[in-house]
Amino acid sequence: MSGVLLITGASRGIGAACARLGARRGYHVAVNYVANEEAANLVVEEIRAEGGKAEAIQGDVSKPEEVENLFSQADLLGPLTGLINNAGILDMAARLDEMPLERLRKVLDTNVLGSMICAQHAIRRMSTRYGGKGGGIVNLSSVAARLGAAGQYVDYATSKGAIDSLTIGLAREVADEGVRVNAVRPGIIDTDIHASGGFPDRVEKLKDTIPIKRGGTPEEVANGILWLLGDEASYVTGVVLDITGGR
Ligand code: NAP
Repeated sequence: MSGVLLITGASRGIGAACARLGARRGYHVAVNYVANEEAANLVVEEIRAEGGKAEAIQGDVSKPEEVENLFSQADLLGPLTGLINNAGILDMAARLDEMPLERLRKVLDTNVLGSMICAQHAIRRMSTRYGGKGGGIVNLSSVAARLGAAGQYVDYATSKGAIDSLTIGLAREVADEGVRVNAVRPGIIDTDIHASGGFPDRVEKLKDTIPIKRGGTPEEVANGILWLLGDEASYVTGVVLDITGGR
């Protein structure tokens, strides 16, 4: 594949795995991050060391003006052909009735509005309706959308339920404009995100509850995402693919 692939939150975890794999598939990768410049630069260096093309671009997806700048910076790399709406957050485990409004806003602004605004920018560049040449969007949902995350992060689960609906609706909206929109629903994947929920050892603790008896790797999720984005999935749109080890 050619063209520019913008990945939000690509400095660590699943996003970083997508960046490495995307570069190997021939994309020029825009590696977005919000705070961890060093980690983003490391991903870029790794990609360049393998002969791939990548650029780190700072920007908070929950801030519309920063998203605007993020896409303008990515435009400098060439025509956009793909977006992976990967940036996502969760907060410490709590019941819904204990969560401050500020937290609810932050989770929804980042996970839902951030993905929607990024999708708007991507559609305006890729859709044939706007003179674009087509492309693909893959959104990051979560198995939490199905399970609800009771007593832990119902806010996060709700945000991922919204991602499922966004995927289905947007896919149908732009299906005849050369843009396919899909999502993946990862299960318990070994990344830093569990530490933000107060459970750094969540993968180890819960692995026996997963039918496949282990957590997933960021690379296993990236494989699914890059498949959905690429030509092998040319007739697949509006799909939410579980990558959960059977959970
Ligand atoms: P992670 O390891 O915590 O990494 C989060 C990434 O998002 C980092 O690159 C971070 O950048 C970036 N980020 C956070 N807030 C941002 C913002 N406001 N604007 C731009 N970038 C931001 O996360 P992960 O586990 O790889 O998760 C990636 C996605 O998969 C998320 O949407 C998550 O909900 C979803 N997911 C993960 C799992 C799992 O078990 N890991 C399961 C289901 C779904 P900095 O490095 O600059 O902080």
